[in-house]
Amino acid sequence: MFLFSVIWFLSETSAAPSLTAEQMSMGMDWLSKFGYLPPPDPVTGQLQTKEALTKAIKAMQKFGGLEETGVLDEETLVLMKTPRCSLPDLSQSESPLRRRRRTLPSQTKWSKRHLSWRIRTFPKESHLLGRDTVRALMYYALKVWSDIAPLDFHEVAGSQADIQIDFTKADHNDGYPFDGPGGTVAHAFYPGERVTAGDVHFDNDEAWTFRSPDSHGMDLFAVAVHEFGHAIGLVHTSAMESIMRPYYQGPVGDPLKYSLPYEDKVRVWQLYGVRDSVSHTAQPDTSHGSDQPVLLDLPENRSTILPDSDIPDRCSAHFDAVAQIRGEAFFFKGLLGKYFWRLTREKHLVSLRPAQIHRFWRGLPTTLDSVDAVYERPRDHKIVFFKGLNYWVFKDNNVEEGYPRPISDFGLPTEGVDAAFVWPHNDKTYFFKGDQYWRYDDYLHRMDLGYPKDSMLWKGIPAQLDDATRWSDGASYFFKGAEFWRVRGSDMEVEAGYPQPIGKDWLLCADMLSDSPAPDANGTDTRLRGQHRASHAGSNYQVCSCTSDSATPLWLRPSFSLLGLLVCFWTLPVALCIDL
Ligand code: ZN
Ligand code: ZN
Repeated sequence: MFLFSVIWFLSETSAAPSLTAEQMSMGMDWLSKFGYLPPPDPVTGQLQTKEALTKAIKAMQKFGGLEETGVLDEETLVLMKTPRCSLPDLSQSESPLRRRRRTLPSQTKWSKRHLSWRIRTFPKESHLLGRDTVRALMYYALKVWSDIAPLDFHEVAGSQADIQIDFTKADHNDGYPFDGPGGTVAHAFYPGERVTAGDVHFDNDEAWTFRSPDSHGMDLFAVAVHEFGHAIGLVHTSAMESIMRPYYQGPVGDPLKYSLPYEDKVRVWQLYGVRDSVSHTAQPDTSHGSDQPVLLDLPENRSTILPDSDIPDRCSAHFDAVAQIRGEAFFFKGLLGKYFWRLTREKHLVSLRPAQIHRFWRGLPTTLDSVDAVYERPRDHKIVFFKGLNYWVFKDNNVEEGYPRPISDFGLPTEGVDAAFVWPHNDKTYFFKGDQYWRYDDYLHRMDLGYPKDSMLWKGIPAQLDDATRWSDGASYFFKGAEFWRVRGSDMEVEAGYPQPIGKDWLLCADMLSDSPAPDANGTDTRLRGQHRASHAGSNYQVCSCTSDSATPLWLRPSFSLLGLLVCFWTLPVALCIDL
């Protein structure tokens, strides 16, 4: 039946006439294996529809960064033959294979922060890499992750270790046999309660290399960084720059200097939070979005490093103002320098380090130590800042002439405002002060009749808000102290489950942020540990150097509840279909 469907598809496919039946079969097999296409039903023998095949090929091309032609063209076949991990690329909810999967364990990250590791079996005697080299490469591949997240890895000598590393071959009794040189080359298991959780297996039949040209063997460090990413809970992404891309990408350079791509940093921060040392040694924000020609006019003096004591803590309550500007989120907090943090449309923090308001929006008085509320005006997309009895209107980065002006222009009371936002439901501007709110029509330049009203009409919203903002999900968000409340669509009522902590959901603050590394009690591998300290002290983290943030797709926030046990096979040219 499968052969029949291949022949049928071949006859239907005019765009790739040179395809052989073997190529076609390989393509369909590949699509099934990596979650793009359900395998032919063995009971009913139901055929793949042409639509399903075209859709599957397009999805594969999209994830792989190819043109979405929907046919198995040359480029697509080349990518399919690229060594890669055999874990499906699509999350369970996206995959047509989801119904065939078992119930998955709920835990997808480690609850502890100190993880032990051990190389249980080393590469065979004849191998190119010696034991010390392999140990050092494992050490540095783990350090890549612990440098930026509050995780600590320590090597242990006994039989117990969270992360057991094996160089093994063929069938090694975990149900996922290796297949000799060139086939499946490594796999890892997600965090969890299982005995195998966190374990990483490398195929002993591969020609593992280090500092070798791309064409020779498999770079052990690069594969190890990828596998340890899985071992701490990360899934695949399609980001070209990511180490968690499913395709083998060759060597990644000097293990002592390697730094994770920003995409991977953000994903591990979303799981575990940010390591303290990263926050404290971060450079000032010099990043900006690249897909939107807005607010790009950055201050000239970018290199000034502000003393840490002047910088407010993004993880502590509260924020003066929160606004959505050109689709991005801005969190304002006054403290000496008057700062803001910026998040992309995908709610992806541009930098851990705040930027200074005055350097970004030129024209606000330098004596201004905070702002009350900010919103983007719906009729002309100008940005309006409120402070006390005054407001300023900005066109992109520059203040308009004639400002500040009194907020009585809006018909607002003389005590200032707590919050201002545009309700997506009706495009009207809402102002909150104390326990009252006003509705303003920015198109007609006038306050609507019948206001102010009691803010209790917004059920569940607290009085004396810090600010509110619309967001691209169609909901409105209200902020006060360390918490926020969400109001969906046209509801005037807070959604169930709120308030939620602002820091965790918006600003990459995690509960474990204060979990400082404990001294090493094992005393193992002092040589490596010494190197670790030295290189750590000399590190100069560049967490704000991303420039591709605005191009980061939505899968940067993967749903980790969808996958439990990870079985990751690097395969060449085609993987076995592993159905968990
Ligand atoms: Zn993988
Ligand atoms: Zn295994």
